[in-house]
Amino acid sequence: MTKFEDNNVFIYNTLKAKKEEFHPVNSPNVGLYVCGPTVYSNVHLGNCRTFLTFDMVYRYLSHLGYKVRYVRNITDAGHLENDADEGEDKIAKKARIEQLEPMEIVQRYTVDFHNVMKKFNACVPSIEPTATGHILEQIEMIQTILDKGLAYEVNGSVYFDVKKYAETNDYGELSGRKIEELREGSRELDGQSEKRDAIDFALWKKASENHIMRWSSPWSVGFPGWHLECSVMSSKYLGSQFDIHGGGMDLKFPHHECEIAQGQASHGVKPVNYWMHGNMLTLNGKRMSKSTGNTLLPHELFSGENELLDKAYSPMVVRFFMMQAHYRSTLDFSSEALSASEKGFQKLMTALKTLGQLKYKKTEVDPTLNQEIEALCAQCYQFMGDDFNTPRTIATLFDLVGKINAFEKEGEISKIAEETNDLLNSTFSGMVVDVLGLNVEETGNEGLLDETLQMLVNIRQEAKQHKNFALSDKIRDELSAAGVQLKDSRDGTTEYIIN
Ligand code: AMP
Ligand code: ZN
Repeated sequence: MTKFEDNNVFIYNTLKAKKEEFHPVNSPNVGLYVCGPTVYSNVHLGNCRTFLTFDMVYRYLSHLGYKVRYVRNITDAGHLENDADEGEDKIAKKARIEQLEPMEIVQRYTVDFHNVMKKFNACVPSIEPTATGHILEQIEMIQTILDKGLAYEVNGSVYFDVKKYAETNDYGELSGRKIEELREGSRELDGQSEKRDAIDFALWKKASENHIMRWSSPWSVGFPGWHLECSVMSSKYLGSQFDIHGGGMDLKFPHHECEIAQGQASHGVKPVNYWMHGNMLTLNGKRMSKSTGNTLLPHELFSGENELLDKAYSPMVVRFFMMQAHYRSTLDFSSEALSASEKGFQKLMTALKTLGQLKYKKTEVDPTLNQEIEALCAQCYQFMGDDFNTPRTIATLFDLVGKINAFEKEGEISKIAEETNDLLNSTFSGMVVDVLGLNVEETGNEGLLDETLQMLVNIRQEAKQHKNFALSDKIRDELSAAGVQLKDSRDGTTEYIIN
């Protein structure tokens, strides 16, 4: 039986404003699309929170045995200043200021993003498509929407006709916004816009003379609207109706509302079954945001070089800090909170190491203890299945830490059934390493060093078995010169001691 058959997952679906049991369109396959970064600056910790949330979602679904196709795009064109339909492209603006090619800006910040994600031990998506790599497909989708009569062309630009669409569809169903309110709240001044209606949004924009990121299309030399790329890339790789779409809450409107309209207009179906939105990371109670300058960058955290910090924190501690909050709650960043997380993280990782080292001894089973451990393991899955409740899962893992530490005092794992010991091991390491994505190596070099030394000891053992004494002596002598003594014992095992 695959794990997902035994463990239901309930997801808070923003579209329905309630938790729903997760049923993939084509189980065991799952399609997951996450809006990626606009690569015009270094990602800040707020951005990282959202990406780590969906990394955890991907990890948990994969852990349950689903075959997840995880698509996270790179926005490298079309995202204009203020997320609006007018203004300069964010990437082109940065390129102008720095006197670089837009693609140099894209390359620099894509590399930075990848480096940061790697430090946080985030999984690499199955596909990471770019907007500029899908201009033809975007043009095709615009043509389809035009053909369906749900868009119109003015002066070489194409706009989505929201009013027409809303005659037969519910525009605003994701964000809860009403068309009239949107129209009244629109910042566009009468007569200044070529749009028929202030609530319409751009699918294609004709490039002004100084807009350097431009492509040919049937309507003009121009560029695609920001919302279009996600509709195009999600449907291309996951189908016109797929399982989960994620992003930060700030993307609900207009970005995701427009994605729904575009998908429905071009394919005649609702594009996404479960919409998930992560809440914001705040700093001093205010949303961390590039535009207000209220940000903290990952490298400042890892080096401790920021006046808000009392010291440096490792990427794994920061990841753990984020996992301690539910993804739908806001999380306020502070040095004190991180410091508390660091202690908790170390406790958890020490228990993981202890568990790996303790031997199991078959003894008479203590039914209460046995049942307690079974129940705690089951609870981890229940909490993860309850809309990915990582804080409650972590609290349950700490209950298990208590049991592991008690075993450590005894020097062995006993008084529980062998299957319970297996369950404890697989649940604890499964949740900590596979699902929460925490790894020991990143806490410092200690774990990595241990693993490397153990590998050399094993290679030396093999060399001895093959009577290759030249190699086994060489390993011993060179380790000794580097300050690591090997002690062979009679039972054939070898210990290493670091001087
Ligand atoms: P952007 O590069 O601006 O398109 O944003 C990338 C992702 O980061 C989006 O999913 C945003 O919703 C998310 N995001 C931006 N600011 C924050 C924040 N303060 N906390 C959490 N997520 C954020
Ligand atoms: Zn998007």
